[in-house]
Amino acid sequence: FPSRLPDVGTTIFATMSALAAEHGAVNLGQGFPDFACDPALVAGVTQAMQAGHNQYPPMPGIPALRAAVASKIEALHARRYCAEREITITAGATQAILTALLACVQPGDEVIVLEPCYDSYVPGIELAGGKVVRVPLTPGSFRPDFGKIAAALTPRTRLLILNTPHNPSATVWSEADMRQLEDLLAPTDVLLVSDEVYEHMVFDGQQHQSAARFAGLAERAFIVSSFGKTFHVTGWKVGTVAAPAPLMAEFRKVHQFNVFTVNTPMQHGLAQYLQQPAHYLGLPAFYQAKRDLFRQGLQGSRLRLLPSSGSYFQCVDYSAVSDLTEMQFCEWLVREIGVAGIPVSAFYGDGFNQRLVRFCFAKQDETLHTALQRLRRL
Ligand code: PMP
Ligand code: GLN
Repeated sequence: FPSRLPDVGTTIFATMSALAAEHGAVNLGQGFPDFACDPALVAGVTQAMQAGHNQYPPMPGIPALRAAVASKIEALHARRYCAEREITITAGATQAILTALLACVQPGDEVIVLEPCYDSYVPGIELAGGKVVRVPLTPGSFRPDFGKIAAALTPRTRLLILNTPHNPSATVWSEADMRQLEDLLAPTDVLLVSDEVYEHMVFDGQQHQSAARFAGLAERAFIVSSFGKTFHVTGWKVGTVAAPAPLMAEFRKVHQFNVFTVNTPMQHGLAQYLQQPAHYLGLPAFYQAKRDLFRQGLQGSRLRLLPSSGSYFQCVDYSAVSDLTEMQFCEWLVREIGVAGIPVSAFYGDGFNQRLVRFCFAKQDETLHTALQRLRRL
């Protein structure tokens, strides 16, 4: 039968993790921590199971977790979402993004993605029957080009997907960037999916610019986050979405039929754990130290470091080392040097090659030291 996604194979993250395992390479490819989460979080989930929280929770998530998420957004970004009607707990950010797309995009609607972009966006738009409109971020700096975004807007534009801090480039949008987007969208009815899964990994004293901080963006936005990223538990697949009530009503119509609801004990554990802001406010410093360790280790090597302002990624330019394409270089790096990274070309529809590799530094310091020792041989 005809494929719904004829151009899609296995994701680059699964492919590179398998290759890394096969060759015993240090895996700085797929973005996930190689260290344990806080035992207190596991204890909270264990207690919830022992206390009998093992049946279906309410469809949008348990009230305590939705209330904790609403309080956190209000404390950080001064916008009050109604926990009852405007917050939903999802099976990770991936399901939140797909569900928002399925809920809003009609066949033939145009959806703007800013390339390079995370690999789940384009297939999600296609499954919804939408037309993908790719707008490049500025080559080199990965800054938004508002002239190009403006030129891409048409009466058929239904939605735009924003991602800050950005995977893979590790750039963050400034307040001025967000205001420019707000002004650009003001005369339109374009919706926004704001992918903020790295919201707590912003470095050098900067502030994460959530769409929640901008009235003209928040009124049209599904704001997506992921506990997997924030609490070092990517395998739990629990995320959140916040959106104004009319948007959320449509989101929940789809949500109830693609997962209905998300595992109960994790929600109880997370609700309790979120009560202490210290559990997420320390993250920028924690990851900034890892970023600095990794960057310092590559000083003087032939890999040129791009800035890393947010997320847990560091991109490097290997033009001084090799003429191979990014995919070929990453395969060679795994086999010959013993380190796995992700070709940035995987985040472009046309596989654009600029000799960049993305490394994930959400790793134990020893892991980073081993990788650095190997990378310095280049
Ligand atoms: N968006 C971005 C930008 C990501 O990097 C990721 C995952 N790594 C996701 C969404 C998906 O998050 P989750 O694991 O919570 O589904
Ligand atoms: N988002 C993670 C990354 O960019 C990977 C998640 C996945 O494997 N789908 O590395």
